[in-house]
Amino acid sequence: MANKSQLMIQPHTFRERRYAMKKHKASRLHYDLRLEWNGVLLSWAIPKGPDRDPRREREAIEMEDHRSEYLLFEGPHRTGPIMLWDLGTWEPHPDSEDVESSLRQGSLRFILRAEKLEGGWTLAKTTKHERGHPIWRLIKDDDAFAIHSVDDLLEQRPNSVNNERTMDDIVQQWNGCRKDSKQQALPFHIGS
Ligand code: MN
Repeated sequence: MANKSQLMIQPHTFRERRYAMKKHKASRLHYDLRLEWNGVLLSWAIPKGPDRDPRREREAIEMEDHRSEYLLFEGPHRTGPIMLWDLGTWEPHPDSEDVESSLRQGSLRFILRAEKLEGGWTLAKTTKHERGHPIWRLIKDDDAFAIHSVDDLLEQRPNSVNNERTMDDIVQQWNGCRKDSKQQALPFHIGS
């Protein structure tokens, strides 16, 4: 179980950057991939969440960059509660050494070291769009961290890396907060 000190993630090498995967209970539950890069968070929404079986590509909808300060955010949001589902670091794969050019060319290979997701992954841009947002595919590389059966990670480890909080915990804490203070609750921040 993660404790609070582990959540203050520090990249170990020059190439490493911070990574997070959020679980977002909006009108439709989805996951949000965040890769820190040049002071912002590159962002993709993943409707079905990640899958570690390389044969099962997942749609990843490119979203606008988010501010770095939001990386560790967990709490209520006007669009629905947000959970910090996974946290760690990422670094570009040698094939994607030039990250800017890889993004422009629509193929970013990267390596994750995190609580739940590890190993090589590829984001590959398609020609399709959803409401003006380019659609990419998130694909697990076939490496030691790949699995070749049903990936039940999302069901087996559904909770926050912040002390295994559930989505209900996150909502209830907010409601408790409102009841106690009779003021608008502040979002719950971790680590920063
Ligand atoms: Mn979202």
